[in-house]
Formats: sequence, C-alpha cells, structure tokens
Amino acid sequence: QFPPSELLNSLPKQFFAGLVKKVGEYIAAGHDVINLGQGNPDQPTPPHIVAKLQEAAANPLNHKYSPFQGFSYLKQAAADFYQREYGVTIDPDKEVAILFGGKAGLVEIPQCLLNSGDTILVPDPGYPDYWSGVALAKAEMVTMPLREENGFLPDYQELDSTVLSKAKLMFLNYPNNPTGATASEEFFVETINLARENDICIVHDFAYGAIGFDGVKPISFLQADGAKEVGIEIYTLSKTYNMAGWRVGFAVGNESVISAIELLQDHLYVSLFGAVQEAAAVALTGPQDCVNELNELYERRRNVLITGLHSLGWNVTAPKGSFFAWLKVPEGYSSEEFSTILLEKAHIMVAPGIGFGEFGEGYVRVGLLSSEDRLAEAVRRISRLEIFEK
Ligand code: PLP
Repeated sequence: QFPPSELLNSLPKQFFAGLVKKVGEYIAAGHDVINLGQGNPDQPTPPHIVAKLQEAAANPLNHKYSPFQGFSYLKQAAADFYQREYGVTIDPDKEVAILFGGKAGLVEIPQCLLNSGDTILVPDPGYPDYWSGVALAKAEMVTMPLREENGFLPDYQELDSTVLSKAKLMFLNYPNNPTGATASEEFFVETINLARENDICIVHDFAYGAIGFDGVKPISFLQADGAKEVGIEIYTLSKTYNMAGWRVGFAVGNESVISAIELLQDHLYVSLFGAVQEAAAVALTGPQDCVNELNELYERRRNVLITGLHSLGWNVTAPKGSFFAWLKVPEGYSSEEFSTILLEKAHIMVAPGIGFGEFGEGYVRVGLLSSEDRLAEAVRRISRLEIFEK
C-alpha cells in the first residue's frame, strides 16, 4: 500500500538473506548445521563491563537524555585508549565522535562528506554495508580490487587519473573482512600520500583492530605520519570486547570529518544510553586481559581450521587478523556452488565470496566464531566430501 521510496529501493539487496533462510530450513528439519557463515561474536561481554552497566543503569542521571554527542568521559576514554594502545595523541573534544556502533558511522560518512554524484573508492571484496552508505548519499562507487597476489591490498597504480581526480572519499579496512589480511605502516603512508595528492578523505575501518595473529598486533591508520590530516579511523567495541549487541563505537581523527559526523548525528539521534557509555569507558580503560585471551582463542580456532584443511590437501591461506578465514574454493566451482555443496552435503554454512563483491568470486568466508571442537568437526565433515575433483 505504501511503497518504499526510490532511495530505499536503490539500496543494495541483502545478499545473504536467502542463505540464512536456507540454513534455518535445514535446522528446522533437524540437521546439525555448523554455522561458519556469519560474523556474530560467540563469547560474552567480560563480566566487569556487564557489572558496570548494571550499576550505571540504576543511576537516575542515566535515565535522562544523555548530552548530544555523548558524555565527555567516553571521548576521554577513547583518547586514552588510542594513547595507550597505539601511542597516538587525540584531542577528546575535537577528534572523537561517539557512534551507535561502527556500522552507523560507516553508513553515515558518505552523507556527511559527499554530494550526489561524487566518487567514492571502496574495496572489493569488502564489507557490504559500505555500499549502503554510498547508495544513501547517491554517490558513485568505484571499486578497488583486492587481489591475493597483492596481499589483498589495493594497487593504487590501477586507479586512473580521472577517477582519482573525482574521488572524494576512500574506505579501507585492515584487519580485513572478509580476507583476513592486515596492512603495514608503509601501505598506510602510501595511502596518505595518495590522499594528499588527490584531496581524498580516507576512512579506515578498524573493526578488527584487536585481532591479530602470530604475535603481530594490527596497526592503526593513525599511527602513520599525517593520517589525521587526511582521514579518520572507525573503532568499535563490538569485536574487541564482545559487545556487538551494545551498539557502541567511535570515530577518531580529522577534526573536520568528526564535526561533520556530529552535525549529522545531531539530526538523527540524541546519544547512547548513559549506562552503555559508562560501561564502554570501563571497557576501554579497564583491565585488558580479556582482549588478549580473546585473541588467543581466535588464534587457536584459526589453527584448528587451517591445519585441518591443510591435512586434507586443501592449500588455503591462514588469515593474519580478523575472525575470518578466506578460503580459495577448489577449481571448477563458483563460490555459491561450493557453499551450496557444503550446506547440502556437510551441513556447514559458509559465506560465498561473491556476496562481498565481484573480486570475492572464487572464495568463501569462514567465521572463527564456533568452538575448536565444532571447527574440527567441520573439517571432518569436509574430509568426507569429494570436493577436490568435480
Ligand atoms: N566493519 C566491518 C568490517 C565489520 O565486519 C563490522 C561488523 O561485522 C563492522 C564494521 C560494524 O560493526 P559494529 O556496527 O558492530 O560496530
């Protein structure tokens, strides 16, 4: 009766909805499906953070509207976190914007900075929510292929000068969803130079900043010299502290971008529940053993999966960070065909790479969000399939 607007209709369709439905049908039919397809952290929020929420929820001051743009103690906690973790000095008043999770910030930013028809550079494969922000801003998306031979980093030589002259914004994301790749400081320096030369604002999505393997801590974009002049970083508490349901994150960096985000947010929301803000500040500044333990847990799971698949003769690359493994599918299958085989014959759900963009074809994404036992069981089930010959 009331059809959605043209703008809503222009939003990308949810690629994985069909797959999730199919998985639901298998589960309803009584099958034991191992869900490695989604990205929802399986561990609980550390108890000291939950305890702070409970205490703060009882404080009547938190029952009122929070101040617009959030409490300054949370911005200070974000600045302290960046100083402690990355040695980066942040002005909490001017260089931090509190977000309803990283996703909200990522979807809002194109509307903050782009005019209709402006060009934005987006990695392919990439986190599909980037596309939604582009569509809402009525911007033109140009994709940057992430190829395995380049360590899943974009090759800036491939961008022609017309595109570069029109581009106003670029999204990057390391540790990367879906490829599990990480970036070096050198790559960020190259990015900053490109941004300066072409007047492009860089938005680095650091959602998996806390998850790096083999003893390598992922680096923040803001650690590279000059980063704050050309861009911002989006940080979320969803993955670092298993707080995905709490919806809290922040943007940090370039003052003019931060103020544009806050301006848009003034029109959209007041701010997060004060008790969530108090608990988030405790997460960022309190004991961090939980973060190290979580990182070790994901690393153990990664090792079970990758070692197991290697033992089957499947020569997959181990992720360096994030909680995803990006597996090249055996010759002769598309990513959708291969995912369907895994679901139908082994009752394992993985995400087909094509759902992350054209350059995701040929891969599937496997989440490390199930126990080591379940991952070992997945490997066993795969070993019973004859997938390496078609
Ligand atoms: N960025 C990437 C690459 C993600 O994978 C996710 C969540 O899956 C997010 C951002 C957003 O996380 P949140 O909105 O929970 O902060």
